[in-house]
Amino acid sequence: MSRLAKGSLTMRIAFIGLGMMGAPMARCLRRRGFELFADDLDKERVRELSTEELAGPVPVPLRAEHASAIDALITMLPDSDAVERVLLGENADGVSGWADRLSQGSCVIDMSSSDPARSRRLAERLAALGLHYLDAPVFGGVLGVLQTHRPLLEAMGRSVLHIGRAGCGHAAKALNNYVSAAGLVATVEALHIAEGFGIEPTVMTEVLNASTGRTNTSENKVRQFMLSGSFSSGFALALMAKDLRIAQQLSSTVGYSM
Ligand code: NAD
Repeated sequence: MSRLAKGSLTMRIAFIGLGMMGAPMARCLRRRGFELFADDLDKERVRELSTEELAGPVPVPLRAEHASAIDALITMLPDSDAVERVLLGENADGVSGWADRLSQGSCVIDMSSSDPARSRRLAERLAALGLHYLDAPVFGGVLGVLQTHRPLLEAMGRSVLHIGRAGCGHAAKALNNYVSAAGLVATVEALHIAEGFGIEPTVMTEVLNASTGRTNTSENKVRQFMLSGSFSSGFALALMAKDLRIAQQLSSTVGYSM
């Protein structure tokens, strides 16, 4: 049983993937007093995190010998390929996957937007090694495991929802992004058509935001990242395309034609 499950206040967290999302999440954990062991393919990101002047314990670059001390391993990686490589395969340093090294009873929390069917298979492989698994960012998995790790998740997010068994969190995430992407496309199309008809994009955006066409894109993206010309929302188009492919595969899995 991990020290977390025993109610210990000291939580040792391995955090792998310090990109747009992972780095600020790791900082949240540091500020809340979690002991962090951090890693990324890009070692410069690890160096940045461990040399920043911030409150909380200074993060340590993750190494193989730390594995037995880890209570939870968080992945914030691009996709299931990267998550499986880190957990099950050989990583860049030639170290075998982390799943074989972690102590029984510790928990893998995948906060990436991964493929739900692969997440479910991964959960089974980890369970065979005596490891718990939660899929994120809308957290599913076993409720007891969720309760044990709730303080950890609450340190990084506004609300923690239990969706269902392993894979359901990742399925819900992909479907959310499908709806979000549909809103993005419709909003941008409406703005182009409006402009062609002589309505300024700023005026059309105001109309949408005051009415039922309001979307996350119209409220939080058009003015801020599109009309400003910065196109720097922090979410790569390739990642959105990956989420849409996951949603499409999910629809075939359940026999629904999108
Ligand atoms: P990112 O590309 O900025 O970061 C990914 C990080 O993972 C990089 O630092 C990369 O070096 C590292 N990495 C890749 N493979 C690795 C490996 N094998 N071992 C160690 N490190 C590795 O991506 P992001 O925007 O932070 O997104 C991460 C996940 O979160 C994705 O699944 C994405 O779909 C999801 N997501 C992103 C956003 C957003 O707004 N950016 C929002 C919600 C969810």
